[in-house]
Amino acid sequence: MPDSITQPRFGVDLGGTAIKLGRVEGDQLVKRLEIDTPHDGELCLNAIADAVRELAAGDSIPSVGIGLPGVIDLDRSRVMEAPNLEFLGNLPAADMLSERLGCPVFLENDANAAAFGEAQVGAGRGVPDFLFLTLGTGVGGGVILNGHPFHGPGGMAGEIGHLTTGHDRQCGCGTVGCLEAIASARAMETLAAQDLGRPLPLKELATAAREGDKDALSVFRTSGLALGIALAQVALLLDLRIFLVGGGGAPTLDLLAPHALEELEKRCFGRTAQDFKLSEASLGNDAGIHGAARLS
Ligand SMILES: [Zn+2]
Repeated sequence: MPDSITQPRFGVDLGGTAIKLGRVEGDQLVKRLEIDTPHDGELCLNAIADAVRELAAGDSIPSVGIGLPGVIDLDRSRVMEAPNLEFLGNLPAADMLSERLGCPVFLENDANAAAFGEAQVGAGRGVPDFLFLTLGTGVGGGVILNGHPFHGPGGMAGEIGHLTTGHDRQCGCGTVGCLEAIASARAMETLAAQDLGRPLPLKELATAAREGDKDALSVFRTSGLALGIALAQVALLLDLRIFLVGGGGAPTLDLLAPHALEELEKRCFGRTAQDFKLSEASLGNDAGIHGAARLS
């Protein structure tokens, strides 16, 4: 087999509390490691280098990709802003890790890395243009154009979580009405606590809705309509028609999608609900590792 298939690749999902690393061969994530994140620049990079060497087990390391929650400079080598990884601020992180491992190192925003993973080996394979979004604690996103993440001139493209959807809830970003404040997994649980009068984990809320509970169904209608309003803005601007959803809220997509598609059809003239595909991403929590491993 050609080297490009057999040669291992190494991807890192660097978070504020944990670092997840994987060894990818072909389409498969064959080995993974998870370690606590040291909150010191040098120690963190040393820990990543040690873990990658452990995954390599003596094999050559052609390159390493790292996805992280923050803004990366346009050379993909330095962390410009990452609230949970402030210890990396102003360090030439890619070069420092590259020196330790003797191979090129590439940085990427974590949502873009996950989007790229889906584009390469997940639900977005063979789809040149799509939006990937995560419904988790917040709502993150990555725009794939021509098979690659679109960064924008400042590296900040894809922030679908802060598109305005017309409600009056306060968002963590300081403004009102963002998608994140009404359709993140956390926001849906908050809505449920208010509407049902008791806290309910999202999974149980979804079960109640599928069993016909009107209050639970109402939460998904509210969040689904807001999701559709945000996706319609993306569709109107870029004519994207495929939306892949990941994160803890993705398994509730069957409850959200009908309402989102209703708004998409209403707001996107010239297109019907059938023109859009709103479906679950396929790589789960491994999307970021897969994408990072393929950065170049
Ligand atoms: Zn916001």
